Amino acid sequence: MILEKPGVPLQLLEKPDPIPGQGEVQVRVSACGVCRTDLHVVDGDLPDPKLPIIPGHEIVGTVSALGEGVDHFELGERIGIPWLGRTCGSCFYCRSGLENLCDEPGFTGYQIDGGYADVTVADARFCFPLSGDYSDAELAPLLCAGLIGYRSLSMVGNNSGRVGIYGFGAAAHIVTQLARYQDREVYAFTRPGDRAAQEFALDTGAIWAGDSDRAPPNELDAAIIFAPVGPLVPAALRAVRKGGVVVCGGIHMSDIPSFPYRILWGERVIRSVANLTRQDAKDFLELAPRVPIRTRIEEFPLEKANMALDALRTGNLTGAAVLIP
Ligand SMILES: [Zn+2]
Ligand SMILES: [Zn+2]
Repeated sequence: MILEKPGVPLQLLEKPDPIPGQGEVQVRVSACGVCRTDLHVVDGDLPDPKLPIIPGHEIVGTVSALGEGVDHFELGERIGIPWLGRTCGSCFYCRSGLENLCDEPGFTGYQIDGGYADVTVADARFCFPLSGDYSDAELAPLLCAGLIGYRSLSMVGNNSGRVGIYGFGAAAHIVTQLARYQDREVYAFTRPGDRAAQEFALDTGAIWAGDSDRAPPNELDAAIIFAPVGPLVPAALRAVRKGGVVVCGGIHMSDIPSFPYRILWGERVIRSVANLTRQDAKDFLELAPRVPIRTRIEEFPLEKANMALDALRTGNLTGAAVLIP
């Protein structure tokens, strides 16, 4: 399923299987999650995608061919391909353990063809072995929603026992389980009146769920915003205590309205989380089965990718959409 240009639906195309080059693996895709970032690529919110592009960066599949020089995977092995598709390896960030901020990165499903396909190729150094008793479809959302959620939660600090989450979708339902495992309380904020999402949050382990225009019953230590809605930043600042942090976990957000300095005063912090490092992936994928994190998924056939994207756009999903070729 290919994007010819932003703003138009994906097209189903038959193409020859891509051949793995030096250092690459060819992967037969068995499941690919649908992430909000895919929606931002398809809708043209993000600048300069490779065009045409095959979206998708929560890819689970089996190795079907090895390029020259790849010796750490075997044919038939189950692996995952995430958003971080390549880095330069030599810039300041790559040398400082911050490869997520690389100056010359390549992202899967944005600059590199991704997983809305039967077969894809990827740089083997950025793929991960996937073991455990998860099904392929259950694993897919861990590869971005899970990883970004994990990185976002790690930014709230150890003293943050009460964590607000704004926007309760794929990432939030994973973070909530992780936060509970770490003995934190989760306060879930949804679109006003979205009872289905609030029920979902409570089912997943949130201690409270309510409309995003309401104040929580307790002052929060930190908040994570997954919804791409700028006005949630001042709302979250008003909900967190002095010294609290507001983490913006999405790649794109509508403009943040101006707000009075006093709601930032008191050493409150606003920060974003960008991409992931391979170390995040290693750490999180080891942790997930120990929690154990369970993902709620809704499967769509690959050729229904536009329908899955629409469901995400309109908020008609509970959990994570996963495409099955
Ligand atoms: Zn770099
Ligand atoms: Zn993503």
